[in-house]
Amino acid sequence: MKIAIRLNVNQKFFWALFAPIFIVSLLSCFFLLSSRFNDLDKNLYERTLHITEQVATTSEYAIVFSDQNMMYRILQSALNHQSISSVQIFNNEQKIIAELGKPPFSIGSSFPDSDYIMEYEDHLESVSGIHYASDSLDSTFNPRTNAFNPLNQRNLIGWVKVEVSKSDIQIKKYQYASFIIFTFIIFIFLTILGAVRISRTLTLPINKLSTSLDKLAQGQFSNAKLMKLPPEYTDIQKNLLELTERLENHNEELISGIEQSTEDMRRSMDSMEEKSAQLHIANREAMESNRLKSQFLANISHEVRTPLNAILGYTKTLQKDVTDTQQRLYVDTIQQSTNSLLAIIGDILDFSKIEAGKLNLESNHFNLKSLIDDVYQTLSINLLTKDKEIDLVPEFHPDTPEWFIGDSTRVRQILTNLIGNAIKFTHQGSIQTKVSILSKSDSDVVLCFQIIDTGIGIPEQKINRLFKAFSQVDTSTTRQFGGTGLGLVITKKLVEQMDGRIEVSSDPSIGSTFRFTLRLKTSPKLKSSHQPLNQCVILLEPSITYRNFMKKYLHDIGVDCTTCSDLEQMITLIKKQHDTTDALLLSVAPDKQSISEAKELINYASQQFNIPCILMIQPPGQISHYSDLKDLCSDILLKPVSQDRLYNALKNINNATSITPLISQPEVFIDKLKGLKILAVDDSPINLQLLGHWLNPKGLEVSLAYSGKQAIEMAEKNQYDLIFMDIQMPEMDGMETTRQLRLLKNYKNTPIIALTAHALGSEQQQILASGMNAYLTKPIDEDILLNTIEAWHANTETFEEQVNLKMADIFDLDKALSIVDGKEEIAREMFDLLADTLDAEKKLIQHHLQNQDIEKLIEVVHRVHGASKYTGTISIARNAGFLEIHLKELGLEEVEGVAEDFMDAIEELLNHRQLIPWTQA
Ligand code: ADP
Repeated sequence: MKIAIRLNVNQKFFWALFAPIFIVSLLSCFFLLSSRFNDLDKNLYERTLHITEQVATTSEYAIVFSDQNMMYRILQSALNHQSISSVQIFNNEQKIIAELGKPPFSIGSSFPDSDYIMEYEDHLESVSGIHYASDSLDSTFNPRTNAFNPLNQRNLIGWVKVEVSKSDIQIKKYQYASFIIFTFIIFIFLTILGAVRISRTLTLPINKLSTSLDKLAQGQFSNAKLMKLPPEYTDIQKNLLELTERLENHNEELISGIEQSTEDMRRSMDSMEEKSAQLHIANREAMESNRLKSQFLANISHEVRTPLNAILGYTKTLQKDVTDTQQRLYVDTIQQSTNSLLAIIGDILDFSKIEAGKLNLESNHFNLKSLIDDVYQTLSINLLTKDKEIDLVPEFHPDTPEWFIGDSTRVRQILTNLIGNAIKFTHQGSIQTKVSILSKSDSDVVLCFQIIDTGIGIPEQKINRLFKAFSQVDTSTTRQFGGTGLGLVITKKLVEQMDGRIEVSSDPSIGSTFRFTLRLKTSPKLKSSHQPLNQCVILLEPSITYRNFMKKYLHDIGVDCTTCSDLEQMITLIKKQHDTTDALLLSVAPDKQSISEAKELINYASQQFNIPCILMIQPPGQISHYSDLKDLCSDILLKPVSQDRLYNALKNINNATSITPLISQPEVFIDKLKGLKILAVDDSPINLQLLGHWLNPKGLEVSLAYSGKQAIEMAEKNQYDLIFMDIQMPEMDGMETTRQLRLLKNYKNTPIIALTAHALGSEQQQILASGMNAYLTKPIDEDILLNTIEAWHANTETFEEQVNLKMADIFDLDKALSIVDGKEEIAREMFDLLADTLDAEKKLIQHHLQNQDIEKLIEVVHRVHGASKYTGTISIARNAGFLEIHLKELGLEEVEGVAEDFMDAIEELLNHRQLIPWTQA
């Protein structure tokens, strides 16, 4: 394991100085001690040898002469030497003859032949032989003789053994060692002091520099300036001072810059606040002016629709009575112009609604196939009036379902607009409407529509102007064709609101194709499946396109079909195939000659071969042209032929006794309505008269009231079964009149139907909230009027029941009250708080859904869910709960349906907000 020791500069300096000195001095100590010890040992050794030899030499004569005194003197003089502990003299038989000193360390053991010195732990033992030479006396005087006379030739007469104790030199060693160690410690101590001091002196400037830099970094410039470095660092100090000053200046500049910017920002914030206040005011003014604009449009619509209502009503009445062709043409023109005017007003209203972002989509189940058939039927009137020969061909891809959930009115509007344009700008050929599926999920279908015409087309460079408001491809065509230039703008907005796209391709030599997609919900209702009919028919259809379309459709429903394009061919075919033919399908042009020829053919076929005939004719406005044919054929179909109607006509071919009425007259229930007492309230006498004109002949008793006041007076005197109520009236408007009527005992449950020209959603809510049961939008159609009377007459629910039934699923007053201990004021306040935010929350949810931002989505839904639990809004609480769980558990997968339900719940609550039965007003 590695242990990292971090040293600061100071310590590093210290160790750099101290470590080498310490090592060197330690080594020196060792060296001194060892050399000194060696010297002592060597000295003792040599001295011992020397003394032993000296005793041996001097004691020679003492032994020879056995002079004990001399021996002891010699021994004494030897003992006088320091450290000699004992001296012994042995004879040649190794027996002690003289000894002095302490008892010897070792006794006995024979001596070797030669001299020796032995070292023991605590002493030295030196032994030397004592030799005698006869001429030794001579040799005393003649040392040369000795030199030539080796020792071993002399006689060994004894031994000297000297023992030297080591204790003395040991003491000396200890003393010396103590001295050295003491000196070493003192030296080391001094060295430490020195090293500490030097390292401090060396690191002081560095530390000072570092502190100064720290201070600089912290912005304490004056402290940094006060720092004093030793004289040798003058340059560094100067540079540092300069740097500090520069930084200080820079800092001051920066601070003043920031102060300046802060001041600027504060000022611009002030001006922004001012601007935002101005903007706020401007915005309020704009909203107010927008509101006024909408109000103005609603009023205009009312003002224009009211007289139009009368014009249209009387025109229709006139149409029935006028027989003179010229006059009838005038009346038809009046009707057409009025309808165009109505369409223009509708366009302008729609456009302003879209601009104001107020266009809300509804959702209902509808059959797209019937809807397209319907649009074709309605628009085909234009063909007749403009005398155009165009085939209107619907083409449904086999996989396409028929039922969807969506805003059928708006889908119809889109189709009417595009097909209407196609008819307007096409003189000859065909207009095909193709529908197919682009993509499909469990809950959604994206449909692709194509409206293909063979008309005048649009020059390429002008195509991009098409979807701009009030723009038309060129003004000359405008004069020829009319229109406001708003149709395509509205269409585009509607398509986009239904999550689709629209595009156009066009070639003036071929025609135009408008392609658009729509996202609709799948409906559980199924396609009507037709059993194969197993029939054979002969079809007369001059137009190839239409003939092909009919042929394909007939084939689809199991009908074998032989086609021809004129009467002569038809007759030939009948003659040939009469045995196998079940029916004739005859397309008749609305001119006299064709009609009389057709009549002859029908007679011929039925009388000769008993073959029934189905007529295919142009739409109802011109039905009088075919009056002669009505009774002759088994059925009359309007062109463009609705596929279901054709199927039914063929199916009923043999048991057809009467022709299905072309214009649906509510005659069946007219009888039931006879004698009903109706009160019609309107400040416009013309409209009132029209109502009377329509209803009186049917046996209904219509009383007219020209003001709200009059209506109440009349209602108090008489009992009416149903009341039609205009909304905008002077003094007392329709809603106020209704509120007053509802206070009367007899009118608590009487159906009151509003007749309104207003088209704005908010007003419709107010109408229902004031106590009316339903509303009809002007201009009012006679049939719709009768149907409404019938529906409300048959309705057995009281008004309260109707309201309660509607509200039961949406709002629970008891629940709202129980949460706040029955304090309605608080409950209402809480409800209003929620309801006021719902519209914004709905938009937020749509936005987050579009961006797939699940976290924010959960946040909003959770908020609404939480609030809705305490305000009695049960439907919102339930749907919000579902959505919240779905988002948390399954995320965004297949969330659309659940989110849609939640949004519908919000919409429904807002629509019925006024109907909540709070007890306090
Ligand atoms: P308008 O009410 O004038 O018809 P639209 O917005 O519906 O307004 O159409 C704008 C213009 O686009 C028309 O005036 C016409 O010039 C051109 N246009 C639209 N549809 C077609 C079509 N099918 N063929 C040729 N031109 C067309």
